[in-house]
Amino acid sequence: MTDDGTTTSTRSAWDAPVRTLLRARPGVALADVDASATPGFDGRKADAVPALAALGTGLSDLQERLFAHGRTGGERSVLLVLQGLDTAGKGGIVRHVLGMVDPQGVALRAFGVPTPQERAQHFLVRVRAALPAPGRIGVFDRSHYEDVLVPRVEGDLDAAGLDARLADITAFEAEVAAQGTTVVKVLLWVSPGEQHARLRERLTRPEKHWKYDPRDVDVRLRRPAYEAAYADVLAHTSTDVAPWYVVPADRKWYARLAVSALLHDALADLRLRWPEPTYDVATELARLDATA
Ligand code: AMP
Ligand code: MG
Repeated sequence: MTDDGTTTSTRSAWDAPVRTLLRARPGVALADVDASATPGFDGRKADAVPALAALGTGLSDLQERLFAHGRTGGERSVLLVLQGLDTAGKGGIVRHVLGMVDPQGVALRAFGVPTPQERAQHFLVRVRAALPAPGRIGVFDRSHYEDVLVPRVEGDLDAAGLDARLADITAFEAEVAAQGTTVVKVLLWVSPGEQHARLRERLTRPEKHWKYDPRDVDVRLRRPAYEAAYADVLAHTSTDVAPWYVVPADRKWYARLAVSALLHDALADLRLRWPEPTYDVATELARLDATA
């Protein structure tokens, strides 16, 4: 680990920068994305375990630097936006990736169907209220993107209304980035076959029944419409200040590794040093030792 928190060892498992490999490509047809691929990772599940642990060590150090920065007047923060179809593994990312860092530095917000009160407001009001404070890693489990995906698939908003929301989103994210928040948007992409297996498991294992929602099957039947809606979102909202990454998610170990690497690189880019003390260290050492 160098003084500004950059590491080389944690990235050795990757054969190219993960951000380059996974950045959403213009015009991508999601139906053609191989959800079982492991782009850039030259290894198998067994190799992912030490790779994830190494990334976790780096991530934890970088997160503590960010927290210390926030505690000492710094204004930077990071926002990880997680999107994906049901069973894509958003919860697993929260547990296994964010679980590797100090929970006091993480601000997690899951977005569900808007309440009547929320519906009466502009769709970004509840999102703005959930933005991370300085020094924090904010995580959105679903996000403002549901406000363009769901109404589009359900036919609740006309084309002009959807375009207006997309424009609102890009302006909002540019403003968030300009205020010092690094925005990382991840689309976890699961194949129809793997999604079927995961939903089935929710029905066949009693301890997973609580995760199943009968509406998941209705949504699954609309997959082509969701693919088109997501493709439009990627085409219109993947900007340099708030890029989208498409992460193949059929192999949970790969998705966790990839998101860890994306988060790691976003934090490393901040090049945060440990804060300078506001007191004289030698004087304080002498004072302290005098009490021994
Ligand atoms: P889950 O993530 O499984 O807890 O499910 C949350 C549900 O809330 C999903 O069906 C989402 O599509 C839905 N949801 C979240 N945000 C919105 C939104 N802004 N508009 C409509 N539905 C939403
Ligand atoms: Mg669900």
